[in-house]
Amino acid sequence: MPHVVIIGRPNVGKSTLFNRLVGKKLALVDDQPGVTRDRRFGDAELLGLAFTIVDTAGWEDDDPSSLPGRMRAQTEAALEGATVALFVIDARAGLTPLDEEIGRHLHESSVPVVLLANKAEGRAGDSGLFESYALGFGDPIAFSAEHGEGLADLFQALLPLIGEPEEEEERSEDEPEYDPKSVLKLAVVGRPNAGKSTLINRLLGEDRLLTGPEAGITRDSIAVDWEWRDPATGESRPIRLIDTAGMRKKAQVVDKLERLSVADARRAIDFAEVVVLLLDATRGLEHQDLKIASMVLEEGRALMIAINKWDVAEDASGLFNGVRAALDDGLAQVRGLPLVAVSARTGKGLDQMLGAAFSLRDAWSRRVPTAALNRWFDDALTANPPPAPGGRRIKLRYITQAKTRPPGFVLFGTRLDMLPESYRRYLVNGIRRELGFDAVPIRLTLRSPK
Ligand code: GDP
Ligand code: GDP
Repeated sequence: MPHVVIIGRPNVGKSTLFNRLVGKKLALVDDQPGVTRDRRFGDAELLGLAFTIVDTAGWEDDDPSSLPGRMRAQTEAALEGATVALFVIDARAGLTPLDEEIGRHLHESSVPVVLLANKAEGRAGDSGLFESYALGFGDPIAFSAEHGEGLADLFQALLPLIGEPEEEEERSEDEPEYDPKSVLKLAVVGRPNAGKSTLINRLLGEDRLLTGPEAGITRDSIAVDWEWRDPATGESRPIRLIDTAGMRKKAQVVDKLERLSVADARRAIDFAEVVVLLLDATRGLEHQDLKIASMVLEEGRALMIAINKWDVAEDASGLFNGVRAALDDGLAQVRGLPLVAVSARTGKGLDQMLGAAFSLRDAWSRRVPTAALNRWFDDALTANPPPAPGGRRIKLRYITQAKTRPPGFVLFGTRLDMLPESYRRYLVNGIRRELGFDAVPIRLTLRSPK
């Protein structure tokens, strides 16, 4: 059970809030400060969200002047084991130095904070509500513990922090479960003369497409369904091969060939799950190839690279390493794209290429359970805490995988507009490396609670 801890100076309405969330008159409420002495735990329920609510005491003291001095230790004690802190202020009274003191200590902790401006029913709390922005916890929730106002906003704020829906419920209706045995939609793209038609002919084992030294001589063909027998498992695996060379003719464009290959690739990408970028071993990796590669990644498709004409490659290992380095250099988005050496002419490396394409689609379709994701997330933040631009820490609270194919993640926190690109990359690379996404393009959306 997540622990939601109520924190605030005496008399702001903590006990009333506790009662409201537990639904029973458990805590003693009194107009006089100093009534609440112990920590109390209750089973809370808020619009279907279940958590343990903790009402903290110890703020109260017979001698209020000694309170600020003890504040740090008490905040720490109160936050022990907390998933979220509900920081309550009295909107009618406005901000007091004690509120600011508590706020400072809360900023020092890594526990996410939701700010409640209590007693905000009617208009009497308006100015306190606006003042409370100064505490630096984002938008305060206008709340009335006594009248039960603001409960939906509180729910909204807590949901990303403690709501961990069942894995089954996470998948949206329009996203059917991934079947690794389904037809692989595969496109082969590349510059003219890289050997795309020859490759497709070789795969299909029949002369379906015309090949020749002049680029662009192909019969019309958009997609071909066939079965590949995986020598590793003996299984037959269905593939729908999208032939961009065939599309080129369809497009009836006789413009510059280089520009054409980009247009081909763009169309192929619309169809494909996995895109194989074919390079010509006799030419290496050229600018145009990087352009196509970036486009595939921007479109969120799984990308792999095959160096063709390996049968005539000179200095094979030098070439391979050179292409690897140029890819890692030229494509900032991903490192370690699957790279295979093939020969469309001899058939070398083609089984390896197709095996890699299926594995890549698995990674591209992968879903990580929220709990595992956040375990990784906590470790990543501990290993390398987010920076504090201007001395104020950026709070990263919770991460969830919102979609697959390509994988998309949503990161919740505060001051996210200040998050440097390098830190974002640190997270994305960590997701990729440590959660099994390999070289798949990953999207990370940043979201601050309203
Ligand atoms: P605590 O000391 O922070 O636990 O505060 P209590 O829950 O004991 O509340 C202190 C006083 O504020 C009591 O008189 C409550 O009735 C009153 N109070 C609590 N919540 C509200 C609210 O939403 N609106 C108003 N007007 N009064 C409230
Ligand atoms: P496309 O324009 O990308 O479809 O390229 P083609 O399939 O038409 O091939 C262009 C030229 O490269 C042709 O002369 C092919 O015979 C040749 N070619 C294709 N694959 C290979 C290969 O693996 N090895 C060698 N040596 N030549 C190849």
